[in-house]
Amino acid sequence: MEDRYDVLLIGGGIVGLATAYRLLERVPGLALAVLEKEPEIGQHQTGHNSGVLHAGLYYAPGSRKARLCREGKAALEAFAADHGIPFEHCGKLVVALSEEELPRLQALKERGMANGVEGLEEVGPERMRAIEPYVTGVRALWSPKTGIIDYRRVACALAQEIAGRGGRILTGQRVTGITPRADGVVVRAGPREFFCRNVISCAGLHSDRIAAMTDAAGAIQIVPFRGSYYTLRPQARHLVRGLIYPVPDPRFPFLGVHFTRTINGEVLVGPNAVLAFAREGYRRTDCVLADLWQTVTFAGFRRLARRHWRTGLMELWRDWSKPAFAAELARFIPQIRPEDLLPGPSGVRAQAVDMEGNLVDDFAFGESPHVLHVRNAPSPAATASLAIGRELAEMAIARFSL
Ligand SMILES: Cc1cc2nc3c(=O)[nH]c(=O)nc-3n(C[C@H](O)[C@H](O)[C@H](O)COP(=O)(O)OP(=O)(O)OC[C@H]3O[C@@H](n4cnc5c(N)ncnc54)[C@H](O)[C@@H]3O)c2cc1C
Repeated sequence: MEDRYDVLLIGGGIVGLATAYRLLERVPGLALAVLEKEPEIGQHQTGHNSGVLHAGLYYAPGSRKARLCREGKAALEAFAADHGIPFEHCGKLVVALSEEELPRLQALKERGMANGVEGLEEVGPERMRAIEPYVTGVRALWSPKTGIIDYRRVACALAQEIAGRGGRILTGQRVTGITPRADGVVVRAGPREFFCRNVISCAGLHSDRIAAMTDAAGAIQIVPFRGSYYTLRPQARHLVRGLIYPVPDPRFPFLGVHFTRTINGEVLVGPNAVLAFAREGYRRTDCVLADLWQTVTFAGFRRLARRHWRTGLMELWRDWSKPAFAAELARFIPQIRPEDLLPGPSGVRAQAVDMEGNLVDDFAFGESPHVLHVRNAPSPAATASLAIGRELAEMAIARFSL
């Protein structure tokens, strides 16, 4: 037995790092380590996202997402300001393309207002074009405080804070087993064994697998949804000033293909949402048979697929066809041409699905003896990370008597 800790965090993404930071803030001197399987922190969802600081428009009032997004955004902006990490309130326009979308736009406005989104305003075509000169549509919601940031930089700053407070970040440590003992837990990472009093799992795309190593497997499973982006070629970047989003389809937690100016000055368009054939399958052709098998044999996925196969096929078509993707974008900005789109990055969402085939909407946590689990932390968990971290730290302090 080489290493002993009070708390081990599994997962060096933004949620695990924020939780470790919050714990060390609350309990100075805690013997804590973060185990990350990759050679570097932040290599999965944290490093493959749109970089948007969400203002809290979309989430059911009273939900964890609504509460933690608002609180987390404020905390993250303060953290970024303290650590010299640039962010910008470039604002977001949610655009209704037709009269039929207006009731959904109205419902979104009511949600945003119930969630206390600052400065939210419904705007007509003239004001829309003053904000985004090239956009078309009948009406829009303007959220001026929605922002952009680079979450990799936030993760690096969190890692520095953790190290500065005596915590350890151990990379290249893939957790393969968790064995409870009367006084704590043995965590195996390949040939290494760690003894700790308590564990907090923030393993993103593998969170269900970590839960299955304890008695918290439960009835939800992660289904990986890839989202690919194009970038606008430099000559077309002037078409987008800030963030332009469609009115979301309330059946899905995904926000629809959008235009995102990044903090580095690029413009991303995407992400779409297609089933990934590997948990970390960033390319269309990536496939890990064990991952795919686990997805297709999951009753919840099969129910989901039966219900939404048409939408799924449409997304797949746009994924393979650049002209179809460009045509979708041109509904918002008619000047966009297929040749304006350059290949861009992609990300894979860790989306929990229940046995009935529902996409789990809210952030979800779970527990087993000596272990706390983050079971579902999709978007806006990067925005909300410091608030999720605070909440998990409080839960850990109470449950584990830290
Ligand atoms: C395409 C896309 C766009 C998004 N856009 C936004 C956005 O604009 N704004 C926003 O707020 N959110 C956005 N999100 C969501 C956000 O990125 C995630 O909610 C957030 O990054 C989740 O962080 P995490 O730490 O839980 O997961 P991750 O960043 O995936 O970290 C989990 C970590 O656990 C590690 N791990 C897994 N298994 C093991 C193991 N067995 N042993 C050791 N380590 C392990 C992984 O290697 C990984 O580093 C987006 C997500 C995607 C995919």
